[in-house]
Amino acid sequence: MKKFMKGLLATTMVFAMMTSLVGCGGGSEAEAPADETATLVMATNAAFPPYEFYEGDAIVGIDAEIGAAIAEKLGMDFVIEDMEFDAIIPAVTSGKASFGMAGMTVTEERLQSVDFSDSYAKGVQVVIVAEGSAITSVDDLFAEGASNVIGVQTGTTGDLYSTWDLEDAGLATVERFNKGADAVLALTQGKVDCVVIDNEPAKEFVAANEGLVILDTEYAVEDYAICFAKDSELTAQVNGALQELIADGTVQAIIDTYISAE
Ligand code: GLN
Repeated sequence: MKKFMKGLLATTMVFAMMTSLVGCGGGSEAEAPADETATLVMATNAAFPPYEFYEGDAIVGIDAEIGAAIAEKLGMDFVIEDMEFDAIIPAVTSGKASFGMAGMTVTEERLQSVDFSDSYAKGVQVVIVAEGSAITSVDDLFAEGASNVIGVQTGTTGDLYSTWDLEDAGLATVERFNKGADAVLALTQGKVDCVVIDNEPAKEFVAANEGLVILDTEYAVEDYAICFAKDSELTAQVNGALQELIADGTVQAIIDTYISAE
């Protein structure tokens, strides 16, 4: 238990237990029972199908299943905490979560505050537009005199790239939403001209809404990985389990159950 408490971070359960132990005063010493299992707490944003989304009350998806497989391999209990995407890194760095897994792209900027595991999947930033839109390729967003309103999910790479490449260059205004689905809704209502978002959720959102298309050209190709507090003792353990699950085909099998091969 102690071993894990340092890197691990109090889950509500562990926290409640410690409090009650402290409250015991001079009674039974705070000796952890031998069968007690440490808990891996995964921070995510469960609005990112097919990586993490709700099925009834349960959070399912590629990341949810890989996270559970990692916990199983490490003999640890597993809990998923759902939060806004831009709350995940603070949850990890403050120790409220053991790791963040949310179709999260490895970026130089994020590497300033967290460490990443090996990558377990590729992501592509794509552009969703309404059918018949004047925007027909990513290049159109960069055209001289462009002035599009771009919908993004706050704090995602779609937000960062659109802000740095386009808004800061005076070529666009970026509208930020808590969920990718809300940005897509704004697109269906004509409130934004396009949405920059990851390809897999993009496919699901386009399938769920009439009259939207994904442009053929890619905005950026990225690596997804698990993030940890810097120098966390968990990084090597979790990454080791992830590497085994990649090597034995488990990760690919999980991905294949959610994403049909094209
Ligand atoms: N891959 C994107 C990022 O890391 C979006 C992730 C997400 O919205 N869950 O910023």
